[in-house]
Amino acid sequence: NTPLHELDPDVAAAVDAELVRQQSTLEMIASENFAPVAVMEAQGSVLTNKYAEGYPGRRYYGGCEHVDVVEQIAIDRIKALFGAEHANVQPHSGAQANAAAMFALLKPGDTIMGLNLAHGGHLTHGMKINFSGKLYNVVPYHVGEDGQVDMAEVERLAKESKPQLIVAGWSAYPRQLDFAAFRRIADEVGAYLMVDMAHFAGLVAAGLHPNPVPHAHVVTTTTHKTLGGPRGGVILSTQELAKKINSAVFPGQQGGPLEHVIAAKAVSFKVAASPEFKERQERTLEGARILAARLVQDDVKAVGVDVLTGGTDVHLVLVDLRNSELDGQQAEDRLHEIGITVNRNAIPNDPRPPMVTSGLRIGTPALATRGFQAEDFTEVADVIAEALKPEYDAEALRARVSALAAKHPLYPSL
Ligand code: PLP
Repeated sequence: NTPLHELDPDVAAAVDAELVRQQSTLEMIASENFAPVAVMEAQGSVLTNKYAEGYPGRRYYGGCEHVDVVEQIAIDRIKALFGAEHANVQPHSGAQANAAAMFALLKPGDTIMGLNLAHGGHLTHGMKINFSGKLYNVVPYHVGEDGQVDMAEVERLAKESKPQLIVAGWSAYPRQLDFAAFRRIADEVGAYLMVDMAHFAGLVAAGLHPNPVPHAHVVTTTTHKTLGGPRGGVILSTQELAKKINSAVFPGQQGGPLEHVIAAKAVSFKVAASPEFKERQERTLEGARILAARLVQDDVKAVGVDVLTGGTDVHLVLVDLRNSELDGQQAEDRLHEIGITVNRNAIPNDPRPPMVTSGLRIGTPALATRGFQAEDFTEVADVIAEALKPEYDAEALRARVSALAAKHPLYPSL
């Protein structure tokens, strides 16, 4: 029995049950991953007790000599990882990183452009009831018929609306963005370019995706998606914007930084610079390609299942269910029933309401972290394909899922 079990058996039981859920099912939510035990150890450390408003060497509290070391390590590591001039590792989350970056660069009422939410953008890129939609005048851009961001539209809208900021980035998009083209358009209209690489930062760190840092004024990210660290956010910028970014995070948006989380971020940045991390990101991409290739075969096409843009260049696949008898909710439930966790997702021009949707977003980062190889992804892809058919054998599919989970044990030391 641990101290948590002694003090609070109710919470301990739920934590234990969550561990079993993660171990016994296949996690394919594209924004999730499994943090290493060492990262969780740092996050669960005594650093949680420390107030440290300010920045390393310039704090508003005493006793910061050790958290200063930790925060500086995190800053130095992430600057090196992405080739950035400046890093702020204090944002509590991706949404707060975006809020602070916008707070640094904009005044309320300014115009921003971002990818429409239903076309793959994030809430913080200008959704109506998000801070970004409330504080700023939002001009959304979209994907075209081919499912890819329509750069001609981006250019036309930028010239018409003269935004102060263009956001490039996505939460549900299976292709790479052209950062150089975004920067050219931003420069033409005098806008800042902010890239939100939350989803694909791990691929960038591994050198398997173009790096937005040389193109953008500001790059934001989460640390818990492909990057595989603790939940949190980071802002990278040019040196010129360093002061504005720092004061927008603290005191602009936040009080005391979460130094225990910053320690965990630092550990995960060390991992992200390793050859093993690169190899894992390669398997992540390969797994997504295997999945996309399976879900465009004739047997699933025959039941109305398709893949948006016909494939993927990243860690996720967007499944198009517009012609399927299953809607997004039913397909999500179907996969849940056999032990695979995914999320339903609105797709461009979705005929169904946002709580139902006609799409699934399926990602491979967590399974790659678990050690899945190409042959395992081939098996998962086939299980998913079979599960989306009207006559599916739930029991047989559940057994195949359990066999894969058993083959790649998760957190065996916990
Ligand atoms: N930016 C993008 C592109 C995201 O996909 C997400 C999360 O899904 C966020 C920001 C927000 O991150 P968080 O949930 O940590 O606030």
